[in-house]
Amino acid sequence: MRRSTRHKRRRKLFWIPLTALLAAASLVVIYLLVQPIWPGSSGPEETSNDAADSASIDPAASATPPPPTPEPTPPEPVFEDAVWIGVGDVMSHSPQLPGAYDAELDTYDFTPFFEEVKPILAQGDWVMANMETPVAGKDFGYSGYPTFNAPVELAEALKGAGFNLLSTANNHSLDKGEKGLLRTLEHLKELGFTTVGTAASQEEADTPVISEQNGIRMGLLSYTYGTNGIPIPEGKPYLVSLIDEEKMKSDIRKLRDAGADVVTIALHFGNEYQTTPTEEQKRLARALVAAGADIIAGSHPHVIQPYEVIETEDLNGQTKKALIIYSMGNFISNQRGDSKDYGVIFKVGVRKNVTEGTTTLTDVEAIPTWVHRYQPDRYYRYRVLPVEETIAAMDDELLGTNIYKQLQTDYDMLIQRLESLQ
Ligand SMILES: [Zn+2]
Repeated sequence: MRRSTRHKRRRKLFWIPLTALLAAASLVVIYLLVQPIWPGSSGPEETSNDAADSASIDPAASATPPPPTPEPTPPEPVFEDAVWIGVGDVMSHSPQLPGAYDAELDTYDFTPFFEEVKPILAQGDWVMANMETPVAGKDFGYSGYPTFNAPVELAEALKGAGFNLLSTANNHSLDKGEKGLLRTLEHLKELGFTTVGTAASQEEADTPVISEQNGIRMGLLSYTYGTNGIPIPEGKPYLVSLIDEEKMKSDIRKLRDAGADVVTIALHFGNEYQTTPTEEQKRLARALVAAGADIIAGSHPHVIQPYEVIETEDLNGQTKKALIIYSMGNFISNQRGDSKDYGVIFKVGVRKNVTEGTTTLTDVEAIPTWVHRYQPDRYYRYRVLPVEETIAAMDDELLGTNIYKQLQTDYDMLIQRLESLQ
C-alpha cells in the first residue's frame, strides 16, 4: 500500500508541475492575446530606449536636424540726400561797378546781378563759387583787370543769393598782395562763408575743411595753377594753395581720414578761352578722381568746357559716380562774345547710404546761364539769367526777339559742348 500511496504521491507530484505548466502556458497565451490591445503599453518605452541606445552610439547620426532658420532680412537702408551747386568765375571788371553804386549812401548794391538765378541757387545745400577777385576793402582801392579788388558788397550779394562756399585759390588771389589776401579772408569769414584755397597761417591751411549738410560731410579742397607771376611771399606757402599732384592726393586722404563722405576739389586750371580741356587737365582731373575725389569743379578758362561723369570705385571697392567739370565759364563778368558771357550752374545730387556708410552722386544737371548786360543810362547793369527758363518764359521785358533767337542758338551750342565728352 505504501507503494501505491507513494505512487499516488508520485502521480500527485507529477500532476502538480503539469498544472503549473499549463497555468503558466495559458497565462502566456492570455498575455499574447491581450498585449496588442493595450495601446502604448510598450511603444513609447521602446522608442525612447531606441533613441537612448542610438544616442549612446552616435549622437550626430540620428539627432533631429533643427528646423531651417529663415535668412536674416537685411535692415532697410537709411539714406540722406543733399544737393551740391557749383558755378564758375565771379569776376569784377571796372564797368560792373558804377551801375551798382549808390552815391547818396556811398555803397554798392550788387543784389540785382543774382536775382534771377536765386531760386535755382536756393535748391542747393552746398552752393559754391570761384571768387576771382579780392574783396580787401576800400582802403586798397577798387580796381578791375588786371589786379582786381571789388567792394565787399559783391560778397554780400553772393551771400544773399544763397552761396555759402567760396574757393579763393586762383590767379588773382594775390592781386592786392598778402595783406589784401588776408583782409579778403577776414571779410568773407565775417559774412559767414566757408572758404578754401587761401589761408592766414600754416595751421589754417592744414586744417581739413569739411561742410556738413543733412548729415553728409563734404570735404573741400582748392588749388590754382599759379598767381599771375605775383610771387607768394617767401616762407608763406600756406597763403595760396598751388596745384601739386602728390600733395593733392595726400590732402584727399587726410580729408577721408577726417571723416569726409565726399570730396570736392575746386581746380583753377586750363587755358583761357579754350572750349575743350587740355590733355593735362584731363589727366590731372582723372588722377584725382582715382585718388578719391568725387567732384572736380574746374574754372579759369572763362568759357564753358565739357563735363564727364566717370564710374569709379570707392575705398570699399563699390561702384560710384564721380563728376569732372573742366570749366564752368563766367558766372558774372563784363566779358562778352565767343561765349565768354555764358556760364553754367551745376546741380548735383549727393546720396549717403547711412546704413553702409557709402556716398555716391546721383543726378547731374547742367544749367547754362547768360550774363545779360544792358544800359538804361550812362552805366551798364548786369543780370545772370538761366537760359532755358528765360527762353521758355518768353516774358522778359528787357529782352527783344533778336536776343531770344540768339539765346536759343547759343543754348543749343552750349548743351552740345557740355555733353561732347559723355
Ligand atoms: Zn582765373
